[in-house]
Formats: sequence, structure tokens, C-alpha cells
Amino acid sequence: MKTFIRLIVLIAPHWKSMLLATVLGFLTVASGVGLMATSAFLIAGAALHPPVLELMKAIVGVRFFGISRAIFRYLERYFAHDATFRVLSRIRVWFYTALEPLVPARLMEYRSGELVSRIMADVGTLEQFYLQVLAPPLVALLVLLGVFAFLAWFGLSLALALLFFFLATAVAVPLGVRALSRGTGRQMVETRSALNTQMVDTVQGMTEIAAFNRAGQQQEQVKALSSKFMDLQGRLAGIRGLSSALVGLLINLAMWSILLLAIPLVNQGKLDGVYLAMLVLGALSSFEAVLPLPMVFQHLEESLAAARRLFAVTDIAPVVRDLPGPSPEPLSYDLRVRGLRFRYAPDEPWAVDGLNFVLPEGDRLAIVGPSGAGKSTLVNLFLRFWDYEEGSISLGEHELKAFSLEDLRRYISVVTQHTYLFNATVRENLLLAKPGAGEEELRQAAREAKIHEFIQSLPRGYDTYVGERGFKLSGGQRQRLAIARALLKNASVLLLDEATAGLDPVTELEVMESIHRLMEGRTTLVITHRLTGLDRMDEILVLERGRIVERGRHQELLEQGGLYRKMWELQNELTPV
Ligand code: ADP
Repeated sequence: MKTFIRLIVLIAPHWKSMLLATVLGFLTVASGVGLMATSAFLIAGAALHPPVLELMKAIVGVRFFGISRAIFRYLERYFAHDATFRVLSRIRVWFYTALEPLVPARLMEYRSGELVSRIMADVGTLEQFYLQVLAPPLVALLVLLGVFAFLAWFGLSLALALLFFFLATAVAVPLGVRALSRGTGRQMVETRSALNTQMVDTVQGMTEIAAFNRAGQQQEQVKALSSKFMDLQGRLAGIRGLSSALVGLLINLAMWSILLLAIPLVNQGKLDGVYLAMLVLGALSSFEAVLPLPMVFQHLEESLAAARRLFAVTDIAPVVRDLPGPSPEPLSYDLRVRGLRFRYAPDEPWAVDGLNFVLPEGDRLAIVGPSGAGKSTLVNLFLRFWDYEEGSISLGEHELKAFSLEDLRRYISVVTQHTYLFNATVRENLLLAKPGAGEEELRQAAREAKIHEFIQSLPRGYDTYVGERGFKLSGGQRQRLAIARALLKNASVLLLDEATAGLDPVTELEVMESIHRLMEGRTTLVITHRLTGLDRMDEILVLERGRIVERGRHQELLEQGGLYRKMWELQNELTPV
């Protein structure tokens, strides 16, 4: 019930278009009833051979309802879909807005296929919430009231018979269907989600699956899920068939009962016989409003299951609280870290444990250390993907938490090991960093990142598509694009997170050159486990298990003969440059 109310609140802003569509839905069925009733009256009346003038009203009525029915049907479809798509776009925007602050800290536990399924399928399922859950009962109620009043005017018993069969088809059959299909809707939503997740995993992990000969097993799993999904669909189709047979039976029984009740009224002279066909056929066509009802509970269950899954994600509190209002202007671009401690969960060890250092504006500081030392954690904290608990990080004398996330990320450019390129053109991928950049500006950044010539050599230059995640480019080229992006963004603080990891030594040196160009005049924090090009750093911190174990310049650290020296020797032994 809570989910239902939340869903209603969510779509409530569009109540006007939904109300309009509901009224039009009622008018469509009402026109249908009118058409059948006037036609029946016309035929019955004509059989008595009255002067044509007496039939005029009925003839006009048939024409009117015939045309109005088509027009109302069109308008009802139009506005109902308009309302549905408005509601859908509202839900999509709402979900995305709720999702964004959860990235990445809170969404790590969700598999990406699972999230895709929620965004696509669950939101899609809600498409039916208005069309198939809310509207049909309202339309049916309005039709029932109208036709009940109409029949009651000729004879209360007729109206009561209609009421009985109307309620049987509108309430009893749907309840029966619900009892039979209980849980099927929820199971379908869940199975579909599992199937989507499995498919996305299969596509993303294709190489590994093939390499480890797991294709067969993967196929089995997909097959099992799809056959479960098909079974569920089959079960639903069976129930649907049964219910439509029942509804057909009840509608015809209703027609017969009204006829049987009306005939004595004619015999007793309480009802003119010429109305007989009109009443029976009018009542019959009012059942059009009942036809969608048996599936209402089914669709309601599916919609609620989908909504619950969406709410489950949006109800997660973001780990980072974004402050509304203007952020302070940093007075300088000094980065200061004091007594910084952080862990990912209260029962986990400290990932960063008591860090103290200052990175003066324009200087270059490197943080090195073995895997698991806490380097990426520091990046996460600088970008406020997570918030620190103890100690402080300040940018130009202001605590990081005082900045809004958007402003903070404007001051910092990041180049990481995994540069994400969208499946778009080179130009569009560059423009991400500065949407309004001019052509010359783009080219200049690309030149400085030493990628311009390569881009020029592509078949369509800057308008070449880079493929999914940029797969048409080599690792080095992707990193250069990332550097060009950072140059375009032109932020004062630069964060390089393993920017050259994964490149071969020759490419690494070349990319390093572009990076040095990028560092000029910027406060730079380099995070790396590879000790390349560190002689140009103003200070190097060696991190181990979240603590600084050595600090100094490249040469000093080598002379100290500690962990840095060990890492240096190991690296040069393994990958002699
Ligand atoms: P590095 O980047 O130096 O390899 P990390 O900062 O990734 O090290 O990791 C430091 C510690 O924090 C490790 O013990 C790691 O297991 C833990 N850690 C890293 N990321 C997460 C996370 N998202 N959730 C929980 N623990 C994490």
C-alpha cells in the first residue's frame, strides 16, 4: 500500500492529463453504448413502419454516436499515451536524479546488468501503471453509474441485474485471476531482471567466457532463466484465456437476464416493447469497460514490484552530502591534508590512517606505494566519492566538504588509468570536458596532448567514431585523449591516478611527455605504483597500509634504501627500460 501511495504521489503532477484521458475513455464507451442503443431502437422502431420523421431522432443519434465514438477513441488513445509518456519521462528523470549521487560508493553492490534492468525494464513496466491499472477501474465505474441510471429509468430490476453481472465481471473475475496468478507478476519481474543481468554479464565477459571455455555453462544458465520466464508467461497466458472465457460467459448471461427480466415488463405494459432491444444491446456494450479489468491486479502486482525495486535504489542515502548554495572561492590552490583517516565500513580496517601533507599551489606531489596501500582511496576522498570521517582535506583554506560537488569537480581535472570514452566521435568525447569549446581550442589541446596528428589521420578526422568504450583506439591513444580533455578543462588542480599504468614502457614514456606538458602551472597530485618520471616531483610520499612510511625527493628516497628503493629496484629489474 505504501508503494502504491508513493507511486501515485510520483505521478500525481500529471493528474490533469490522466483525468482528461479517463473522461475521454468514459465518453468512448458511453458513445458505444449510445450507438448500440440507438441502432437497436432504430431497427425495432422501423419494423413498426412509422412515418420516417418519427425515426429522425434515432437516425441522427446513430450518426452522432458512430462518429463521436471514433473521435473519442482517438482522443482517448492520444491523451492516455501522452499522459503515460509524460509519467514515464518523469520517472526516468526522477530515478536518474536519485541515482547520480549514489555513484560510485553506494552502487558498488549492484551489478551493472541489474541497474540497467531497473532503469530500462522496471521503468518500462510502470508504463502500464496508469494505462492498465488506474484508468480501467475508473472508466468502468463511470460507465456503470451511467448505464445503471439509464436502465433504472426503465425498470429497477434491469439495473440491478446489470449491477450484479457488472460486479461479477469487474470484481469477482479479477479477484479470481489474482488468486490464480498470485506471485506470478513478481516472479516475472524478478526472472526478467535475472535474465537481463545474466545477458549483460555474458556480453561484457565474452572474452573471459570464451577463454575459460565457459560458454556452454553460461548458455545453460541463460537457457534455464529464459525457460523459467517462458513458463511464467505461459501460465499467465493460460489464466488470461480462462478469464476472458469467463468474462464472455458473464456478459452473455447479463444480456439474457436483462432480456428475461424485461419481457414480463413489456407484458405487464410497464415497458414499450420497442425499447426491448435497445436496453439489452445498450447493456451489452457497456461491458466493453469491463474487458480490461481482469488483468488489473496482475498489472498492479507487476507495477508495484517494479516500483519497489526502483524505490529500493532511490531510498539509499548517498554517502556524501552535497551542500546546496554557493561554494566558497578557493583563495589559492594549496591542498592540505591533516590527520586524515578513513575506512570504507566501520568493521573494516583503516584504508587511510593518519595522513599529513601539504601540496603548495603549482607544486607536484607523488604518492606511491604497493597495491592496497590506500592510493585510490585518497583519490576517492579528493573527488568526494566518499567523505572522510576524521581529519581534514582543504583546498585553498576551505574544507573540501564546504564545496558543492559540482564546483569541487570543476577545480580538479582527473586522468585515470581507465579513461572512459563514449561511443561517439572524437570531437564529442573531447567536448565532454568543455562543452562550448571552439574548433581551434580542441585542436590546440589535441596538439599539446600529441594526439592531433593521429586524429587527422583517421578516416573522418575529429568526426570518427571511437567505438564502444573507445575500443578502436590503443591504450596510449585513449590516455592522450584523456590528457587533451584535461587540458581543455583547464582546472587548476590535476589528479593523475595511475594515468600510465597498463601502457608498454615506450608508450608510457611518450604519454609521460604529454603529461608533463599538462602539469605545467598546475597543482599536481600523482598517484602511481610505477616509479617512472618521479625525479621531476617536488615531493614523494611512500604509502604503506594507509600510512606514510617515507617522504622526500626521488634521489633522497633512493639513498635512504627503504621501501621506495626496494620498489625501484624491483621494478627496474622486472621491466628494464
Ligand atoms: P591502492 O589504490 O593503493 O591499491 P586502495 O585505496 O584501492 O589501494 O585500497 C586500500 C584498502 O581499501 C584496501 O585494503 C582495499 O581492500 C580497501 N578498499 C578499496 N576500495 C574499497 C571499497 N570500495 N570498499 C571497501 N574497501 C575498499
